[in-house]
Amino acid sequence: MQRLRVGLVGIGKIARDQHIPVLRDNEKFELVAAASRNTRVDGIANFTDLAGMLSACPDLDCIAICTPPQAHFAAARLALDAGKHVLLEKPPAATTREIALLAAHAARRGLALFQSWHSRFAIGVAPARAWMLERRLQHARILWKEDVRVWHPGQQWIWQAGGYGVFDPGINALSILTEIVPQEVLVSAARLEFPANRQAPIAAQLKMRTEGGVPILAEFDFRHTGVQTWDMEFATDHGSLKLALGGSQLFIDGVAQQPVDLRGEYARLYARFAQLCAARATEVDWRPMQLVADAFLIGERATVEAFSD
Ligand code: NAP
Repeated sequence: MQRLRVGLVGIGKIARDQHIPVLRDNEKFELVAAASRNTRVDGIANFTDLAGMLSACPDLDCIAICTPPQAHFAAARLALDAGKHVLLEKPPAATTREIALLAAHAARRGLALFQSWHSRFAIGVAPARAWMLERRLQHARILWKEDVRVWHPGQQWIWQAGGYGVFDPGINALSILTEIVPQEVLVSAARLEFPANRQAPIAAQLKMRTEGGVPILAEFDFRHTGVQTWDMEFATDHGSLKLALGGSQLFIDGVAQQPVDLRGEYARLYARFAQLCAARATEVDWRPMQLVADAFLIGERATVEAFSD
């Protein structure tokens, strides 16, 4: 079978850490071009913008967009207008209308739009979902605490309006939560901490609940040094479940269920994209983004110490 020809847009940390290595070792895809204003990828065609890539490479099948969320809508719209299937990195877009309109546009054009949540492809998430389906949740807690200077060095977009701040990683937890908790989840209250010199939060605490009223607490913090924490804990009527390392490690009643696997996540994500391209189907679930938007809508805002890189 002929491989799908991919163009990658926005060559930064995630493109180099995951997309390029996974695409270079992939029987379903062939990486043929990159579009990035300030950098190049060895061994393929390079362009400074997507429009140039689309006009020089008309036989591309799909575009993977790895820019920050503020740039997603324009790039995805351009790619869909050119008749290409689109994979969007998370978070989906800068506003909820943007992703709603992209989903409608892709469906109208009969193209695949994969609004991806990579954390849902972490090895522990599917078995956690199956386990949760058979139990009654009693309460849950999310601790997503990392050092922004280590994981997002020099990324100014993350601090700008539409950059999500601490919700850029935090939305990964919300993507897992909405995948594995059988009931829908709502935000009840939130506190967002904004550095005096930034437009996006450095920390946030969310009080959520399921539709049935089960409490879910989440703490997101970008100021965390020491042991980095991407944990989710669930207490149910028949035992407890913990996902650690962003979904890559699953414990049930304190017992590890499988070896840690940090490498397979993006391979599984691209396998799903291949299925969507074959079916010309759209997969968009913006519930994690709605939870973030709702936290911004009803959250108390606190100004905290200015942040410097
Ligand atoms: P990054 O290192 O800043 O790379 C993004 C690249 O996009 C930049 O290097 C830049 O390359 C290009 N770009 C295009 N328009 C831009 C704009 N308006 N502002 C800034 N850069 C722009 O960011 P990243 O960590 O790869 O994250 C990109 C997206 O992937 C984010 O939505 C993030 O949530 C998601 N993601 C990141 C990770 C991670 O571990 N970092 C993991 C999973 C998902 P040029 O200047 O060359 O155009």
